[in-house]
Amino acid sequence: MGAVIGHEISHGFDDQGAKFDAQGNLRDWWTPEDLKNFQARSQCVIKQFDGYEVEPGLHENGKLVVGESIGDLGGLAIAYRALQKVLVQHPEGTIDGFTPDQRFFISWAHGWAASARPEYQRLQVNTNPHPLDRFRAFGPLSNMPSFQKAFGCKESDPMVRAVADRCQIW
Ligand SMILES: [Zn+2]
Repeated sequence: MGAVIGHEISHGFDDQGAKFDAQGNLRDWWTPEDLKNFQARSQCVIKQFDGYEVEPGLHENGKLVVGESIGDLGGLAIAYRALQKVLVQHPEGTIDGFTPDQRFFISWAHGWAASARPEYQRLQVNTNPHPLDRFRAFGPLSNMPSFQKAFGCKESDPMVRAVADRCQIW
């Protein structure tokens, strides 16, 4: 839930929300350098989602889903940081063999458990700014060193993006 709240907050600073200032007015308030860095980092996310194949011949449209995917990545990053702060005050042990960090990432993935017909998926990929649930489940996590560490993944594991391709916005 923390990641979902973080996702919504970060829309204020995604490719669309960033065009508005603190008073809600359409005004460019970014320094040229910040904007350039933001666009370069956004491009990383676009490339990541362009790479996801929905079915033979059909890929996610990175430009269409970039705002929502930035929201997922930023939301997870801020919620993970919040969890680490809470754990300092209130240490937690394992439950069912899973550490608090592992449970954090499993909870995120559970949130996207769903089933969709191919026709619906095709419609979503062509028209909806949200990536398909299955790509939201693992896409942002594959960028996060904290996820890799939580599950002891190797650099070559499928859920870990190569360091050079790893995306981080905030
Ligand atoms: Zn959103």
